[in-house]
Amino acid sequence: MSLRQRWTQWQTSRFLHNHPLDNDEWHSALATLPWLSSLDAVQRAHLRMNVLRFMEQKQFSAAGDFSLDRQKVLLIALLASLLWPHEEGDIFPGWVEVIVYPGDFSATHTQAGDAGVMDEKVAAMAGESWLRGPVILSWDTLWQQSQQSSSPHQLVFHEFAHKLDGMNGAANGMPPLPRSLRQQEWTQVMTGAYERLNHVLDQGQKPWIDPYAATAPAEFFAVLCEVFFRQPQQLAKAEPGVFSLLCRWFANSPGIGLIPEPLRQHSEHA
Ligand SMILES: [Zn+2]
Repeated sequence: MSLRQRWTQWQTSRFLHNHPLDNDEWHSALATLPWLSSLDAVQRAHLRMNVLRFMEQKQFSAAGDFSLDRQKVLLIALLASLLWPHEEGDIFPGWVEVIVYPGDFSATHTQAGDAGVMDEKVAAMAGESWLRGPVILSWDTLWQQSQQSSSPHQLVFHEFAHKLDGMNGAANGMPPLPRSLRQQEWTQVMTGAYERLNHVLDQGQKPWIDPYAATAPAEFFAVLCEVFFRQPQQLAKAEPGVFSLLCRWFANSPGIGLIPEPLRQHSEHA
């Protein structure tokens, strides 16, 4: 057993001692997402610790006539926690509320229109993430996507990728970078891929990723995170540089276990 494995195991047992999460409850939550079966023991232990932290630090509220029970809360916490790369400190810090609607909800957005007039747009939304405010989710959408064995979409990944992105104060498609990643490298790789996608769309061709990714760098990052965890092969094939960058950014997240090992190794040596 490696030092990291022993350390994680010690931390987990200490944490679980103080914050019990019933074994049956934990295993039945994992069983709702069969595509998590590739996670190893260390990644599962880290995930469980993240989930406990998440449930302790975030507040859930139901909107409309939705009935939000502990199983549903646990599933949302589980999905979000796959992305969190740290083992200590607060999880997704700086805000607390997760609001869950039964299905799509309507949101009014005000934006500057022609001649300085503010336009009010009402749109049907499946999710929203405020820079320093709540995450809002449609249960229908996140549940359906979670039950598909292979889908490029996962709403919870998308909205929590926005939270990672906003941790350095701006939703601009660049989360705070670890020391091993230089800002210049990140910007160069991401800008190149973003421009290629926009070029493909300008030519009227079919893009390899949901075209919504081309609407802004922040959306590009959020949609990329969905594809990275749910269809890593597609991302590695279409944009190997982006794939390798995300492998490095998410290296210490439990969700990295969703990326097949040979694919990860190949990207390290590319
Ligand atoms: Zn978004």
